This record gives sequence, C-alpha cells and structure tokens, in this order.
Amino acid sequence: MTISDFLERVQNAKPLNAFISIDQTHIREQYEKQAEGSLARVFIGIKDNISVQGQTLSCASHILENFISPYDATVVKKLKNAGAIIAGKTNMDEFAMGSSSEYSHYSAVRNAVHPEYVAGGSSGGSAVAVAAGVVDAALGSDTGGSVRQPASYNGIVGMKPTYGRVSRYGLVAFASSLDQIGIMSTSVENSAKILEVIAGEDPLDATTVPEPVRTFSKNMESQVSDWKIGLPKEYFTEGLSESVRQAVNTKVEALKAAGATIVPISLPHTEYAISIYYIITSAEASSNLARYDGVRYGLRHEPSDLMDMYTQTRANGFGSEVKRRIMLGTYVLSSGYYDAYYDKAQRVRRLLQSDFTQAFQSVDAIITPTTPTTAFKRGEKIDDPLAMYLNDIYTVSVNLAGLPAVSLPVGTDDKGLPIGLQIIAPAFKEETIFKIGTLIERLKS
Ligand code: GLN
Repeated sequence: MTISDFLERVQNAKPLNAFISIDQTHIREQYEKQAEGSLARVFIGIKDNISVQGQTLSCASHILENFISPYDATVVKKLKNAGAIIAGKTNMDEFAMGSSSEYSHYSAVRNAVHPEYVAGGSSGGSAVAVAAGVVDAALGSDTGGSVRQPASYNGIVGMKPTYGRVSRYGLVAFASSLDQIGIMSTSVENSAKILEVIAGEDPLDATTVPEPVRTFSKNMESQVSDWKIGLPKEYFTEGLSESVRQAVNTKVEALKAAGATIVPISLPHTEYAISIYYIITSAEASSNLARYDGVRYGLRHEPSDLMDMYTQTRANGFGSEVKRRIMLGTYVLSSGYYDAYYDKAQRVRRLLQSDFTQAFQSVDAIITPTTPTTAFKRGEKIDDPLAMYLNDIYTVSVNLAGLPAVSLPVGTDDKGLPIGLQIIAPAFKEETIFKIGTLIERLKS
C-alpha cells in the first residue's frame, strides 16, 4: 500500500472512528526508510495504550489526553526493526476496560461491517482499522478477550499469545497478571508472521520467558488427522445464540469428516470465570491506576491543596466504567473483604487453571465459540455493566490460565454480522493454534 492509498482509506473510514491519532510526518519518514525486513512497509495500527515514541498514549482517557509517549514499547521497536510502518494509534475502551469500544473519551468506534453495531472491545479501533482495510494489521491488548472479541465482531483474525510470550514493556498496565499484547490481522499466516517478530524474552519485562521463538509462519502445515480436539460442554450451553452454535459446529463437523478426533471434555470451573475475572482484574486495576493522580502524568486539576488535586484530577479525568472498576477493586482488597473476595478468587483461579491442565492431557487443543452472540447494537449495553461483562464469558478463562488462543472468522449470521471460532492451546503452543487455524481456513464449508 502506498501512503496515498493509506490516507484515502483513512478518509473513507473516518465515520468508523477507529483512530485517535495519525502522525503523517512520521509515516512519510518511515516509508522512505522501511523498504527491508520481513514486514517491509506493512502498515500496522497500534492501540493507544501501547507506547510509540512521540505519539499519543491516551488510553482513550481524558486523564491522559495530552500525554505523548517518550519512548517505544518493545513490540513497537521490534516492528520498526522488521520494516513495518506504524500507521497510527487506534481507539479503544478507556484503559482497555470494556467490550464495545463505546467507553472512549474520543467517542465510540463503529462496527466495520454494520455501523449501527458495536465494534467490540476493548481493542475495537484496531479490529475495525484492519477489517475496513485501512491497515494491514494492528496490535491490541488482551486482558480478558479484548483482541479476540472485537476480531470476532468484525470478521478478522485475533490472536492472544501465551502470557510471557510477548514483552509488555511500554503497554499501559490494566491487570498485570493477565495483560498480554495481541495481534489483529486478516489471516492466520499474517498473525504468525507478526508474532515471530514481536515475541521473545525482554530484559525490560520480567514476565517474559526464554522460550525459543520458532519461525511460526514456516511451520503452518499439518494433517487434519494429526489432531485431537476437545469441545468443552460448558461453552455450548444456554446463552449461546443459535447462529454462533451452528457456525462453530459446522467447522467442527468438517474437521471430524476430514479425520480429526473430536472429544467432548469438561472445564468444570467455567461458571466462576466471569466473577473471578472481574474481582482479580479490578483489584489489579485499582492498584495500577493509582499513579494517575495529577502529579506525573496528563491531566492536573489545579489544587487548593494536595488532597483536592488528587480527588479533582481523578474525578474529572476518569470515565464512569474506570471509576466503577477502581471502586470495585479497592473494595475487594480492603481489610475484612480481602479473604472473602480477592483471596477466594485467586484460589478458584488455580482450580480453573488445573481444569485446562487436565484437559490438555487428552487433547491437543480446545475449540469454542469466541462470544455467545454476534455484535450487539450501539447503546444496547452501555448502561448495563453486567450484560456487558457477560460478553467475555468464553474469553476470560484463557487469560486467567495464561494460555494462547485465536479467534477466526467462520461465517456470518442472518444480519450479515461476523461469527468467531476460538482455538485454545497449551501454554507456548502457539504453533498448534496456527496449524489448526490454517486447516480451518482451508475447510470448504
Ligand atoms: N471486556 C473485558 C473487560 O472489560 C476485557 C478487557 C480486555 O481484555 N482488555 O475487562
């Protein structure tokens, strides 16, 4: 894509509101330089909670509205070194908290397929920028599904690597024991090509592990009959819409017909996943977001005294969903409630993790729907946090267990809205996801 193609696409897609900022001077400079590398002149959008030197890092929040990042995140540095062009900073739910990209200080993102529907979230801008063809690929962050769910709502591929696979240095922290940077793109192969560039141990992020990073994109081939795939019964119960169930089943049946072994499995603690996810992430968020107090970053309410500066800055700077999480997190960590909520949630998290360990003793991968329904109408859930949270029912367990997963587009419902199928693999087995994903992309039905 040339720069003028890109700018024309940006213009056409403007009503979708996928970007927070685009630095044209930077793009022109890079275009001249970036003629070599495995991602030479590939245009990549970056969620506005990942640092790009000299560009906005707003997290779609009023509190960071004028903040410019002084350095590049490790992933951004690696993308630049591979020849990619940083195309712009994408819109999102404030501080990555949300499932629709409506909780943005810069207004909601619209679905790329049907603009009256939500983009999904929190990496909605990244998903829409890819789905609308404005960029070749984009990075998002996935704490509970924020890469996979918007990918599924917009009909693209969304990949969340294993916890520890990709450096988070330069990613604004939301819930540090779950946060992971993920990839939005138009094919499994493109996800593999980007993952092999951004993955790897980083001395600047102590959670990254020294696992070897294979050239994933050169190891995509396998036989359908190689695979044993588990279908967890807890992911196919009430609440799952008929169109999503059918689309996923059709692919599973086709895999079976082609020789894959399909095994019914159980992940018995699934019903607790949403509750423990919202307890643990809110607790971590309440601590991570304590730093936005008007002293170091962004917005500052001019104080009459110090306490006034803290309270006014935070009261004016954060939106209502972020405040809700901070209050919830502070509550579950407070003395008297810690044991009943936070500590208990951590124990159940362990049980949920062992469900997966158990399951992976008999299967290579797990297939589920990515979301219970296709995209919902704009405004439909904005005042109903519980309904919004239930969107994440099939995605959060993967983060709680630290596993890799992908969402693949597998057709549309009767309104033409895209449907996503999720593949989950054991930790550091991204290769399994890419291989099975490639087979599913090639299935006829
Ligand atoms: N929708 C989930 C939440 O609101 C997931 C967010 C994410 O993955 N960043 O917390």
